[in-house]
Amino acid sequence: MEPVVEVRDLKKIYRGSEKPAIRNLNLAVGRGEMIGIIGPSGAGKSTLLRCINHLVIPTAGRIFIEGEEITGASPAKVRKLRRRLGMVFQHHNLVSRLTVMQNVMHGRLGYMNTLDGVLGRYTETDKQWALSILEQTGLGDFLYHRAGELSGGQRQRVGIVRALMQQPSVLLCDEPIASLDPASAQVVMELIRDVCRRQRSRVAGPPIACIVNLHQVDAALKYADRIIGMFEGEIVYDGPTAELTGPVIERIYGKPMAELMISAERPEVKV
Ligand code: ADP
Repeated sequence: MEPVVEVRDLKKIYRGSEKPAIRNLNLAVGRGEMIGIIGPSGAGKSTLLRCINHLVIPTAGRIFIEGEEITGASPAKVRKLRRRLGMVFQHHNLVSRLTVMQNVMHGRLGYMNTLDGVLGRYTETDKQWALSILEQTGLGDFLYHRAGELSGGQRQRVGIVRALMQQPSVLLCDEPIASLDPASAQVVMELIRDVCRRQRSRVAGPPIACIVNLHQVDAALKYADRIIGMFEGEIVYDGPTAELTGPVIERIYGKPMAELMISAERPEVKV
């Protein structure tokens, strides 16, 4: 089957930098896959996600979204392809003074003309749909709360629902639990996994692939089906989570696994 995302011979060297952030990376992501990307800080995880959705322009290589090339595409085509890529960031990027409902409806903007978007003229169908996803994700009591009043975990869930309103084929999650306490992190990771498997989310359509950058190795082991281990801009492991052994993890991070587990449980501790 055609991959949802295909990355061919990707290379990225940032301006003013001599060292490539991504060296020569190849990757194919299938429908409904839940992929955890792990690796030390600076390994290139975030750059990879940002190249996929064209926030960062690659130095070389090609990227295809459901068979359509995003690298070198016109601005109109990039905009169209981006609808299929839901982005979830560490700091959710919600508008604090707007309500949960208003933030979530922003996920529809890519499908609207500018005037309707500016005036917030969303269709009744879209509004009903937003309501149903918010209820299914346990946010039904917060519809008219301002995003700024919510906890970090709740905000992250709103960010995920907003991304779902785009009807994406892929969710790209960049460190979605890095600033959350362990209990909220668990809720957010469960939601991402459920979305990937189409549980709790009645969004019609094919399964959504999720690519999640994770600083926390144990979260990757717990929730991902497939792990991609990155080191200095290269993939050094790509395979099923079940086959990721302690020695491989130690090779990716250059430190004993026990230290990494401690850092995951206590995110404030840097190792
Ligand atoms: P990770 O997400 O694994 O921590 P990044 O993709 O953020 O890694 O970074 C990979 C490398 O690229 C690092 O050496 C980092 O310093 C560099 N880098 C990231 N963003 C920029 C940027 N905007 N300009 C210059 N260098 C950058």
